[in-house]
Amino acid sequence: MHPSLAMKKVQTKICYLCGKPLSAPTDVDHPVMQQLFAPEIRRKHNVSELVTFDVHRACNAAYQSDEDYFVRSLMPFARGSVAGDAIYAKALEDFRTGRQVPLTTMVLSEFDPNPSGLLLPGGKVVKRFDGERLRRVAWKMVRGLHFYHAGEVLPEEWPTVGVQIYAGETPPPEDVLCFVSIAQSRGRYPGVFDYKFDKFPESNDLHYWALLLWDRIIVRVIFHDPACACDTCTSARYPKTGELSEVAAASNDGPAAGSVTKSLPGEACQPPAAPKFPLKAADFIARGIAEGPALGHVLTLAEDAWFAADFPLDEVTLSAIADQTVARFTRDHRL
Ligand SMILES: [Zn+2]
Ligand SMILES: [Zn+2]
Repeated sequence: MHPSLAMKKVQTKICYLCGKPLSAPTDVDHPVMQQLFAPEIRRKHNVSELVTFDVHRACNAAYQSDEDYFVRSLMPFARGSVAGDAIYAKALEDFRTGRQVPLTTMVLSEFDPNPSGLLLPGGKVVKRFDGERLRRVAWKMVRGLHFYHAGEVLPEEWPTVGVQIYAGETPPPEDVLCFVSIAQSRGRYPGVFDYKFDKFPESNDLHYWALLLWDRIIVRVIFHDPACACDTCTSARYPKTGELSEVAAASNDGPAAGSVTKSLPGEACQPPAAPKFPLKAADFIARGIAEGPALGHVLTLAEDAWFAADFPLDEVTLSAIADQTVARFTRDHRL
């Protein structure tokens, strides 16, 4: 084949997005979105080796706006690498020339330096994500790449998928760093997009993926194998066969082994646990809030602020959140 025709268009008879046979109208889908590549990066590399599939046009279109959102909202974290600076400059240029303005404005508004009256130490900017949209796109990328490598359609709705995004100052946890350093690099253009995956038979065939964007952001996607026999997966496959699921699950239990897999949350068939809100009632009683409904209200406000601040755990930030929540509550209720 002529090199310029070496598009990685994979011939298939099914749409990997819905798992149903292909039928017109179709569109070409890039599991690794082209828009991750800034135009100057596209010019520099020949990105024709990006994998593409034919999919139903409607299935493709159903992801369009979430893919735009994904790229736009993660792009500010990409600064500092060649590909990241390029995609950031491109977004800024689009913004100035009026393209994609509503979306960019929305994303920028999520960078709220003062969410709900909350000021964080060091002028830290708070980013609020629409987590479900990011999760949906990360899972689509994994589904497309898994389809490419394994020829298997992963369900769009699958209960045992955990997606975590590591960007900015927070370092990824040990299991991610360990996995990224040892697993094989699969991306054709790793400075822009790279990915690594492996399966852990000792943990019920847990699948572990790391997507690396612009050499700056790591997206960790963990999921149970489509054939997993745990209760959650079994009932997702066969909603009405409870008996079967118990038998199957009992025959497939095994202890996790190895330092990487031990830290994985997958054995319990749950996505990674959300961090626990660390402030307690006592923190607010100490700040003069009386026990009763007011205390409950303040705790809720503080938890929202903590959530909006991306779950900080250091004492200085937590103390600032507590102080500002109390100040705001006191002001709003003229106490
Ligand atoms: Zn489809
Ligand atoms: Zn499972």
